Amino acid sequence: MRTFHCNRCSQLVFYENVRCERCESLLGYVPELAEISAFEEAGEGRWRSLHPRAADAVFRQCHNYAVENICNWMIPADSPDTLCRACQFTRTIPNLGTPDNRLYWYRLETAKRRLLYTLAALGLDVPSCQNDPEHGLAFEFLEDSDDGPRVMTGHDNGLITLNIAEADDAYREKVRSAMGEPYRTLLGHFRHETGHYYFNKLIVNDPRWLAPFRKLFGDERADYGEALKAYYRNGAPADWQASTISAYATMHPSEDWAETWAHYLLIVDVLDTSTSYGLALLPDDPSEPTLTDRTPVEDASFENLMKRWFPLTYALNSLNRSLGMPDGYPFTLASPVVDKLRFVHRLIAAVGR
Ligand SMILES: [Zn+2]
Ligand SMILES: [Zn+2]
Ligand SMILES: [Zn+2]
Repeated sequence: MRTFHCNRCSQLVFYENVRCERCESLLGYVPELAEISAFEEAGEGRWRSLHPRAADAVFRQCHNYAVENICNWMIPADSPDTLCRACQFTRTIPNLGTPDNRLYWYRLETAKRRLLYTLAALGLDVPSCQNDPEHGLAFEFLEDSDDGPRVMTGHDNGLITLNIAEADDAYREKVRSAMGEPYRTLLGHFRHETGHYYFNKLIVNDPRWLAPFRKLFGDERADYGEALKAYYRNGAPADWQASTISAYATMHPSEDWAETWAHYLLIVDVLDTSTSYGLALLPDDPSEPTLTDRTPVEDASFENLMKRWFPLTYALNSLNRSLGMPDGYPFTLASPVVDKLRFVHRLIAAVGR
């Protein structure tokens, strides 16, 4: 993700911020500009943007910003909407009568907004269920109950369901460890599930993409229930790293696709962030991993992205080890995985606006 600044005092601010830490201006994200803007009060709950590209336009806070404190997006003041574009995607929110659920809801929406930013930056069309009831994307954040069936995180025909327990760090870490996964995050879940959505939207009905897809990932018509049972019975093959990005990706071609798609979004977001900060790697020994290229990720070739990605991951993991944290990037990319990532890149380059 790119960097943002307060329009009043130039302080570097994060995408998630609601106030400038230095000058205390209200901050909000304006999706029409793809920018965080600083605002000044314009009366009656309205806020005038100080962003140079906004031409003094007046906005309101999303209801979930002004009242619920879980959003930071803005709506044009004359819009009839009460929820911002990001919040409109959520069809079911957690029961706020339960302690902790508001925090979980905040974490879920925050991860979802970052996902939406990346999809938009890649030029991918993301209609919400509100704008396009038939083909739009919707989210349900559900909770396990004592009497009902367990809530499964997954995707079904544009509806992404997430078990809100995934927003509980202790629960998520327990599952991650029990499943032997090196990486499990809310953002990763959202990226993965949108992979299933875009498969239906972009590949399954287009022979130009479906044939090369099946060559790389296998036949997605393979029995899913059988594959699931076999995976939980036998686990992944010992040499799964030679062909897939994760153990889970070996379960079924559809899961291999969703895992690869999610990984591509991860690479693009991280590279975009490091490029925006002007991060460079200039070791004394130039034969060591070096990074100086600053081509915007949306203009970069796949080869260019990969060339920059490897040095960055060395530095990223070394920094994490110095922090006493596990590797930030606990993956290796075997060449069949790189080929699959290249397919995702080509698809997005072809269909992105
Ligand atoms: Zn400021
Ligand atoms: Zn909102
Ligand atoms: Zn999946």
